[in-house]
Amino acid sequence: MATEQSPLLRDIRNDDFIEPQDMRDGRFGKIPLGLIAILILIIGFVLFVVFVPHNTPHPIEPWPTDLTPNIFSHLKALNEIAKHSNKNSRSITNGYNASAEYIISTLINKTNCDVKLQYFKVPIWEKEKEAELSVSFGNPDEIVAFQGGIDFWSMRDGGQAASLVSQEVVKIQNPLDNKTEWNVQGKVALIQFGNFSVWDAAYKAEQNKASAVIFYNSPGQTKLSRVRVRIAEWKEGDPLMNIPVLAASNSLGRILKISSSINITTYTKVFVTETFNVICHLNDHGHKKNTIVLGAHLDSVSAGPGMVDNASGAATLLEILLTLEKQLFEPKNRLVFAWWGAEEIGLGGSRHFVRELLKSKEKENIAMYLNFDMLGSPNYIPFILQGSDAPPDARDGSIRIQHMLEKVFDKLREPYDISDMLGGSDFLPFIQNSIPSGGIYTGSSEIKSRKSQQKFGGIANAPLDPCYHQACDILDNVSEDAIELTSKAALEVIINFGSMKDLRDYLESRDI
Ligand SMILES: [Zn+2]
Repeated sequence: MATEQSPLLRDIRNDDFIEPQDMRDGRFGKIPLGLIAILILIIGFVLFVVFVPHNTPHPIEPWPTDLTPNIFSHLKALNEIAKHSNKNSRSITNGYNASAEYIISTLINKTNCDVKLQYFKVPIWEKEKEAELSVSFGNPDEIVAFQGGIDFWSMRDGGQAASLVSQEVVKIQNPLDNKTEWNVQGKVALIQFGNFSVWDAAYKAEQNKASAVIFYNSPGQTKLSRVRVRIAEWKEGDPLMNIPVLAASNSLGRILKISSSINITTYTKVFVTETFNVICHLNDHGHKKNTIVLGAHLDSVSAGPGMVDNASGAATLLEILLTLEKQLFEPKNRLVFAWWGAEEIGLGGSRHFVRELLKSKEKENIAMYLNFDMLGSPNYIPFILQGSDAPPDARDGSIRIQHMLEKVFDKLREPYDISDMLGGSDFLPFIQNSIPSGGIYTGSSEIKSRKSQQKFGGIANAPLDPCYHQACDILDNVSEDAIELTSKAALEVIINFGSMKDLRDYLESRDI
């Protein structure tokens, strides 16, 4: 559902990533920009002369020792936003726009960023309540009802609300075989889940005018509980599933095969809405050809306020930027800060950003990407993302990034572990398009082993974040210790890469 946009979001709307200069007039309206620029230059020069010891390399001393209190004030603001939203959430259809406004107004008031909003479309699927399903075996007056959420459930992204009465069930074997006959018009297609794309099979059913699709698990399997019905890299113009798609247990699947008719009611909706990334370019400093993108997703899941996932990363990235600006940090390599929208909807924002990079040839300027997703997990392990997981084109550079992060943790005398970098966050579109990437992460539903507990403290045999993707991912769920450590490491690594003279050489060199 498109949310009403505030004047702030409308005014700085800009879809063009490439030429940041374009938006200046639009953003500041009637303010005489030339005058502001001259004033900033004069103030900047005076501050430079007064405060910066000449020939001193970065960082300029003294850097703040602890960013945690300021990060928590951003977290509190984002938590308030969630509280005032419909569902105590900062998802795209709840508190996301207000979260973005907080970031944007802070950027405009406290930094020299060129702030840009990069708009894109995402599909939204909502379930008001679980579906209902009943069957009869010959006598339409004798109906057997099954239990939603246990025997069957509406699959994620699986279609609009519908009410289907006394429909015939048609079993389809080999749904993706071209020779399969789809005699399903106005009927319910029943398909045993196998080694095929659920989207492809369900879409075939829809094109053949089925009224609904039910996938059921193979004997002894529960795989369907994790599957969703959508094109993996959905983008504007791609189709959505309209007919209801349900998943069922193997035993219900077997019962449905011998039923004579079925009744189904679903309470879902699917629609496309528009959202955006918030992007800050620090244009005045650093080689454009050695651009470093720093990203954290700003949206949460709809189930909760997403304080660890990922207000923690978004707030840390914001505070790091404010710190760099306060310290008059002059990177040798251009820094681009990104707060992604719709990460929780199939990495919508970062995928869109990379697609636009490719279209515009801007991609050549991007040397690397750093991801900050979940930095404050309550039972945390400080993880560094594993560079060798990147595809060959991005592998060497990603390994170099991993090693730089390791050096930073070593310097802080803090232990760390390595986590895979295979999927599930915004680094994916970057490494898939040969941009070396890395990042920090403090864990979600992984269980902490006894050995890890001895190394990092916390609670053994418990999840690293017991509130992952749940309503209880509130402010109290965020670990101050984790934030203190990860923000220090993130700041240090950003300074190191930002001030590196031969960034490309470093990333391309083979590691020792
Ligand atoms: Zn996340």
